Amino acid sequence: MYNIFPLIRFPLNSAPSFGLWKVNNDTCADQVYNAIRTGYRLLDGACDYGNEKEAGEGVARAIKDGLVKREDLFIVSKLWNSFHDKEVVEKTAKKQLSDWGVDYFDLFIIHFPISLKYVDPSVRYPPGWKDENDKFTLGKATIQETWTEMEKLVQKGLAKSIGISNFSAQLIMDLLRYAKIPPATLQIEHHPYLVQAGLVKYAQENDITVTAYSSLGPASFLELDMKDAHRAAPLLDHATVKTIASKHGRTPAQVLLRWATQRGIAVIPKSNNQGRLQQNLEVTGWDLEPDDLRAISALDQGLRFNDPLAVSAAFRFLNRSL
Ligand code: NAD
Repeated sequence: MYNIFPLIRFPLNSAPSFGLWKVNNDTCADQVYNAIRTGYRLLDGACDYGNEKEAGEGVARAIKDGLVKREDLFIVSKLWNSFHDKEVVEKTAKKQLSDWGVDYFDLFIIHFPISLKYVDPSVRYPPGWKDENDKFTLGKATIQETWTEMEKLVQKGLAKSIGISNFSAQLIMDLLRYAKIPPATLQIEHHPYLVQAGLVKYAQENDITVTAYSSLGPASFLELDMKDAHRAAPLLDHATVKTIASKHGRTPAQVLLRWATQRGIAVIPKSNNQGRLQQNLEVTGWDLEPDDLRAISALDQGLRFNDPLAVSAAFRFLNRSL
């Protein structure tokens, strides 16, 4: 077993990072270009976001205009659930590389530890959670099968490093039994309402960099009109967060992001507002006090917005009613 973690050129928890979920196809190329011009270097994409071609166009333009070279960027993408079968992992990664217009990913991640039935890209791409008959159908691949194929991507130079997302500690314990290349990173929903302290500690103790997504909590899921997000008190307006922000002369968003980065957790926020884009870059190089960190962590409610179990339960219910 060998650890490829040192191969990652950026310390993930300080790389200026831009997430691509819900970035519209119409504006994606411009947003990526502008993020790079503003100083972002890590781009967090995925097949499921449906905008890899456009993200690649933004990258190509930034390289053509001399803003960056390919090797200055850290491009992350993810393997979707319906591409877990061993026969399709490499061909899917190659399609995604071709969409981006690059010949390697810096990091390629298993998006969810859930194998869904294969859907041919000619039928629907990205396939989302449903098969070609619009039903939720599990696939047959185990995580071990998929991870072994992910390791081959590193050996073939298609990915510099590989990682996992939305995994529990128990699944990681199992994965580490057979992994020849341990995951470089674990990407999870992480905000003050979902701290997952045990999982974060376990990953960090095993040299797996934790990357937080949806760091601003309910804000991201309001866009999806999720009931739980409407019910939750907005973190950006929370009295605890606002008091700490005014004490440090920072915005609530910066406090939420710094709360993560100061604890060694990478963040990948997204905004198409220039002011927010700029402020989200300033989340290292200044410190919250230990009491601030404790007060924010104490907001934990175990409140998960992105719950694959809820998605799969909803679809299983739907399958029965069809
Ligand atoms: P986010 O934290 O980036 O953004 C949430 C909302 O906050 C957005 O509407 C944004 O416009 C707004 N916002 C951003 N900066 C702000 C600021 N400074 N002040 C006020 N509002 C601000 O949440 P997200 O999009 O859920 O997550 C970030 C990235 O994580 C995604 O783009 C994606 O790359 C990744 N992600 C991964 C998974 C996964 O399953 N692995 C799931 C969700 C997201």
